[in-house]
Amino acid sequence: MTTAYELRCKGCGKTYGLQPLSICEDCFSPLEIVYDLEYARTRFTRYAIANGPLNMWRYRALLPVRDSYVPKTPAGLTPLVEAPRLGEHIGARNLYLKNDAVCMPTLSFKDRVVAVALANAQDFGFDTVGCSSTGNLANAVAAQAARLGLKTFILVPADLEPAKILNTQVYGATLVRVDGNYDHVNRLCSQIADRYNWGFVNVNLRPYYAEGSKTVGYEIAEQLGWRLPDNIVCPMAGGSLITKIRKAFDELIALGLVDEKPVRFFGAQATGCSPIAKAVKGGTDVIEPQRPNTIARSLAIGNPADGMYAARTILATGGWAEDVSDVEIVSAIQELAETEGIFTETAGGVTTAVTARLYAHGRIQRDELTVSCITGNGLKTTDCLNGAYEQSEAIRPRLADFEIYVEEHGATRQQLSTAGGNHVR
Ligand SMILES: *Cc1c(COP(=O)(O)O)cnc(C)c1O
Ligand SMILES: [Zn+2]
Repeated sequence: MTTAYELRCKGCGKTYGLQPLSICEDCFSPLEIVYDLEYARTRFTRYAIANGPLNMWRYRALLPVRDSYVPKTPAGLTPLVEAPRLGEHIGARNLYLKNDAVCMPTLSFKDRVVAVALANAQDFGFDTVGCSSTGNLANAVAAQAARLGLKTFILVPADLEPAKILNTQVYGATLVRVDGNYDHVNRLCSQIADRYNWGFVNVNLRPYYAEGSKTVGYEIAEQLGWRLPDNIVCPMAGGSLITKIRKAFDELIALGLVDEKPVRFFGAQATGCSPIAKAVKGGTDVIEPQRPNTIARSLAIGNPADGMYAARTILATGGWAEDVSDVEIVSAIQELAETEGIFTETAGGVTTAVTARLYAHGRIQRDELTVSCITGNGLKTTDCLNGAYEQSEAIRPRLADFEIYVEEHGATRQQLSTAGGNHVR
């Protein structure tokens, strides 16, 4: 290898050098970045990482960027927090949350993938970038492209949540709403990328993009004191994140930064779009595309690009996949907020509800060290809570009025702390 990494086909192993390409010309399998681990061994050390910046670029020795690249977006290094109160609710004693609801700059884990994709877009000389998106990717591309001074075309399904549309347009991106679902949008983007020579982060730049997801895995291991957990629970849309957390763990083991141990991977989807969970439940890695119908829009990919690899990751590690209804998603968003003070979007509701079910069904044992990945912020999907809370009449600014208010309402808060609450399971 002339560089520390290159592009290689996951199916047939053909190598492609470094170029904006995501599918093998011979066998149509996805392309992936592979590293010269011997070269990385001297640079990707606990010591070097500890002395790196306080963001995802501390792991740059195993990210596909040139040595001379100066990162512009300090994404990642989000909190890993214990979740004892949620744990009490769902029967978990050793549960952690990886909180990418507060990933900077746009409050989802997509900031990680975009940071790596745009570094390469600039390297390849693209002056215009874009993506097909279920929402969070649109926000991340728009914000980071603004900072880099790149022109941006973003294509989304027309019925996306209003906050995700606004959070794209505010950065000056050109937002194209497409009458269709994500899978239609994605197909159109492939055609546009070919025709216009633009860098689409999740189309022709997808192998670079996907590597950014590994930083979730590196961080979990480092934040656990360079240990691997017993279980990972991860939401799945295209199925990339879950496979890349596993790749991160495998690299850490190969380089001796953590002790080898089996980690089981559990996938979470909404029932209204659950092609990967369905395959796993059937014991197969063959994905049957679905037409999405769920409030968890950020996970609503009916024909997931990495679905087969996600299913294999789950089946090969002895994990499982579950899917939950829209009612359960909303209830889990509230449960997570009320127990741990984390307001997540619908995707995080999916993850939380699935985590609860995995414990309830005995798929995860209560003392196992389990990390549940919260990937997006609730402020972006407030519409799913419309009507959930009443506003009381305003009171006059007088103590007597407040006392009357407490008489009438005082006992209504904190229902959750009594008897497990009334949340759907
Ligand atoms: C995109 C997204 C995911 C899933 O990512 P994949 O790598 O496509 O499986 C999970 N959560 C949120 C909030 C997302 O935006
Ligand atoms: Zn191939």
